[in-house]
Amino acid sequence: MVTKNMNDKIYDISIIGGGPAGMFATYYAGLRNLKVALIESLPKLGGQPETLYAQKHIYDVAALPKISGTNLTDQLTKQLEITSFDKYLSTSVSSIEENKKKNLWELTTSKGTIRSKAIIIAIGNGAFKPRKLTFDYDETLENNNLSYFVNNIEDFRGKDVIVAGGGDSAVDWAIDLDKVTNHTSLIHRRNKYRAMESSVQKLNDSDVEQLNPYIIKGINYNPNNHEKIDVTLKLIKSDELKTITADKLLVNYGFVSDSRILKDWNIDLNGPFIPVSREMETNLPNVFAIGDIVTYPGKLQLIATAFAEGPIAVTKALRNLYPDKDYFEHSTSIFEK
Ligand SMILES: Cc1cc2nc3c(=O)[nH]c(=O)nc-3n(C[C@H](O)[C@H](O)[C@H](O)COP(=O)(O)OP(=O)(O)OC[C@H]3O[C@@H](n4cnc5c(N)ncnc54)[C@H](O)[C@@H]3O)c2cc1C
Repeated sequence: MVTKNMNDKIYDISIIGGGPAGMFATYYAGLRNLKVALIESLPKLGGQPETLYAQKHIYDVAALPKISGTNLTDQLTKQLEITSFDKYLSTSVSSIEENKKKNLWELTTSKGTIRSKAIIIAIGNGAFKPRKLTFDYDETLENNNLSYFVNNIEDFRGKDVIVAGGGDSAVDWAIDLDKVTNHTSLIHRRNKYRAMESSVQKLNDSDVEQLNPYIIKGINYNPNNHEKIDVTLKLIKSDELKTITADKLLVNYGFVSDSRILKDWNIDLNGPFIPVSREMETNLPNVFAIGDIVTYPGKLQLIATAFAEGPIAVTKALRNLYPDKDYFEHSTSIFEK
């Protein structure tokens, strides 16, 4: 299904996935003067290091002896600022279709169609989705009183806020939101958090009210004030229930990823992975793949290998699209403007 075009642009390369592989490939394609679209299903770039292990340190990226997941994303973001490209956040690609007449690819996304001469698939283990509350609730609560992401911290200013979860993300958000909220509570089903010791110390030193071990059993509009919510909590290993009224509930239960979507893309798969040639080609013309989603003999699912695969795919795409161009690939100083 091809939906309405998002704009009139025809990109040289659309890069699907804004993790380390997609971010560095975007930068490199920009260096090579290609028109690039970077498409990421989440509201922020960074992939696994940013989403799954922001505070954990990484020790095996060349020239960076020790860097946290979130600092790696910051560095990649700074590097991207040097080049020009179009960024589509909160935009999930659901299918790709070849338009043979026009010699281009049409990518159906959650926001419309993006057109491109080549594609680099850099979707890691697949689109991340937040782990949601498992009981039924009124869906109109979402993105108003109930959220799974913080898009703008100002949405929480002066409010009574409940944060749910016990990992780094929940603990860090509780501490940060508490600086702007009227009152912040953190609900966790265990007595111990799965977060950095320094973050837990900050939490203990803050005014955040810690409610544990509790799980959330229900969420409803407050019957007397429709702008507020009643959140029902159950004490673990007990029948004790209590209801607290708040303006907002932020759920940080982590993420799940899913690459099954590829089954509908007519792309050859080896299990959940895309087999690629030495030049990162898939079985589809001008469709390349890099990063954790690919497989080839000796493949390592590492950031270092993802970084190397981007330039290989971009260079092959460039050669396919513009066979008459001169190629200088050994030194980037020649790209200085
Ligand atoms: C806990 C943990 C620790 C790790 N530690 C290390 C380490 O120390 N060193 C190391 O080198 N590696 C480490 N790794 C592995 C490393 O994080 C991955 O190799 C790397 O993130 C792969 O990058 P990627 O860009 O291919 O995929 P990802 O980082 O998974 O990024 C893929 C991006 O694509 C997006 N996406 C997916 N589907 C779609 C779609 N349909 N439309 C739009 N966007 C989409 C996703 O939302 C995601 O942002 C670790 C991994 C984990 C889980």
